[in-house]
Amino acid sequence: MTKKILILGGGTGGVVSALRLSEKINHYGIDAEITLINKDEWHYMPPLWMDVAIEGMPIEETRAPIKGLEKYGVNVVIGPAADIDLANRKVKMEDGKELDYDYLIIALGTRNGWEAYPGLAEAGYHNYDPDAAQEMYKALKQFKAGKLVVLAPEIPYRCGIYPMEVATYLGHYYHTRGMKVDIHVITPYMPNGFTTVQALGPDIGRLWLKYFKKYNIKFTPHKGLKAIDPKAKRIEFVDGSTTTYDFLIKVPPMRLPKILDKPELVFEQDKRFTKVRALDFRHPEYKEVFLIGSHAMPPTGLADAGVFIHSAAVRATGFLLDDLAGVGEIEDFPPVTCVAYVGDKGFMGVCEVEYQNGMYVWNKCYNAMESGLMKLVKRSFYQGWLDRLRLP
Ligand SMILES: Cc1cc2nc3c(=O)[nH]c(=O)nc-3n(C[C@H](O)[C@H](O)[C@H](O)COP(=O)(O)OP(=O)(O)OC[C@H]3O[C@@H](n4cnc5c(N)ncnc54)[C@H](O)[C@@H]3O)c2cc1C
Repeated sequence: MTKKILILGGGTGGVVSALRLSEKINHYGIDAEITLINKDEWHYMPPLWMDVAIEGMPIEETRAPIKGLEKYGVNVVIGPAADIDLANRKVKMEDGKELDYDYLIIALGTRNGWEAYPGLAEAGYHNYDPDAAQEMYKALKQFKAGKLVVLAPEIPYRCGIYPMEVATYLGHYYHTRGMKVDIHVITPYMPNGFTTVQALGPDIGRLWLKYFKKYNIKFTPHKGLKAIDPKAKRIEFVDGSTTTYDFLIKVPPMRLPKILDKPELVFEQDKRFTKVRALDFRHPEYKEVFLIGSHAMPPTGLADAGVFIHSAAVRATGFLLDDLAGVGEIEDFPPVTCVAYVGDKGFMGVCEVEYQNGMYVWNKCYNAMESGLMKLVKRSFYQGWLDRLRLP
C-alpha cells in the first residue's frame, strides 16, 4: 500500500524535506506520497526580512508560493494544523479535516514569545515577521539621530549572528548617510561565559569586533533581562543595571507554537523546545516521527539557523528513506556554511559539526571569505532558493 509521508510546516525544514524526499522517491520509484501542510500560501525566507526593514525590499521578494512544491510531486494543503495525535498517527486541521500518516516530519518553527518579559511586546521594533519588518522600515526612515539599541533578551534566539549582523549593517547605513546614531548591541552571556560575539569562535569574533570599531558600535553582554518600560524607553536587567534607548530593535524569545505545547512533544529539560533524538532527529518514543524545525535544534546541541535545519532535514530524510525502502544514503552532518552581511560587505562563515556523545558540537568555525561579493552571493542565493518554487 502507498505509504503516506506528512510534513508539517512549509518553512526551511519542511521545504528541504519535501524536495529531498520527492527527488529520491521519483528516482527509486518508491510507492509513497508526500503531503505538506502550511498555514498560509507562502514559503518565506526570513533572513531577507532584514533587507525589508533596512533597505525597503518589497515583501514579495522574500517569499514564494508554497504551492510551487506541487510541480515536484508534493501535495500541498493550505491551512493551520490544530492538533497532532501521535498515538493514532493523525493530524487534525483547524477546519476539522484529519490527515493520517505513516511518517510525520514536524518543522513548525517557533513563535515570537514577546510575553516572556514585561514591556517587551509593547517596546521597539523587530524584523522577525514580514509585517513587523515593514513597520521597522518606516520607523527607521524617521530615525536620524540618537541611541539605537539592538537587544536580545535571552539565548538561544533565532539566527545567533542576527544582533551583530543587523548592528553592523546599520552602522554602514548611518555612516554612509553621515548621521549621528550611536549603536549599542546588548546580548546575554552564554552558559559557558562567552559572549554572543565569541559564539562562532575567535576568527568570526574578530570580524565582528573590527566592524564594531569601524562604526563605533558599543557591545555589552548582560546577565538577564528583567523588564522594559516602553514609555520611559528604559531597559532593566536582573542585576539591577538599567539603560535607555531612543530606538529599540528587539530579538524575540523563542517559544513553542501552541500545537507543539503538549506533554508528548515538549522537551522536559527546557520547555521552550520539543524533544528529539539527536542521532536521527526522531521522536524518542514515536520512531515514525521526525522533528527538524527550530523547535528541535537546541536539544540536539545545534543552533537555530536555516543552515543547521537544512542539514538536519537532509540527515533525517536519509533515515526515513532507509526505513521506508532501504535506499539512499544517510549523510553525516556536513560542515555548515552560511553567508551573512557584515557592515558594507558580506562574509561566508563555516562551522565544522561533529556528533559526540549523543549531541552535535559545532564550535570550530571560521571566516572563509569577507568581501562585497559575499553580499551579492547572499542575495542571489536566497532569490535562487525561492525561484525553485516560483518558476513554472
Ligand atoms: C529575521 C531572521 C533572520 C534570519 N537569518 C538567518 C540567516 O542569515 N541564516 C540562517 O541560516 N538562518 C537565519 N534565520 C533562521 C531561519 O530562518 C530559521 O532557522 C528557519 O527558517 C527555521 O526553519 P523551520 O522550518 O523550523 O521554521 P520556519 O522557516 O519558521 O517555518 C515554519 C513554517 O510552519 C508554518 N506553520 C506554523 N504553524 C503552523 C500550523 N499550525 N499549521 C501549519 N503550518 C504552520 C509557518 O507558516 C512556516 O511556513 C533567520 C530567522 C529570522 C527570523
